[in-house]
Amino acid sequence: MTTYTVTGVRKVLSEDFTHRHLEGVCTDDRAHHDLAAVIASINAGNTWRTKAGGYEETIKVTSECPAPGCTVAPYIETNPRSLRKDNLERLEPC
Ligand SMILES: [Zn+2]
Repeated sequence: MTTYTVTGVRKVLSEDFTHRHLEGVCTDDRAHHDLAAVIASINAGNTWRTKAGGYEETIKVTSECPAPGCTVAPYIETNPRSLRKDNLERLEPC
């Protein structure tokens, strides 16, 4: 099993134009991985961790994007209510 270190996120505008959500992440080797690939890898037993702003968190698969009415599912998160970089959503764009 492999551990991946995520240092940035890539977001896209949702289909209903109400919010931006994760399309994928970037790892410390600057490779981009789309959401489906990350989720498949986590479900296969690999570990995906964020490392940013002094925080290191483990990424979890969650049922869906938390935005109301959004149909993107499944989705990924760390600490979705945090305003700091322990929240996957708050990582720098890549
Ligand atoms: Zn969404």
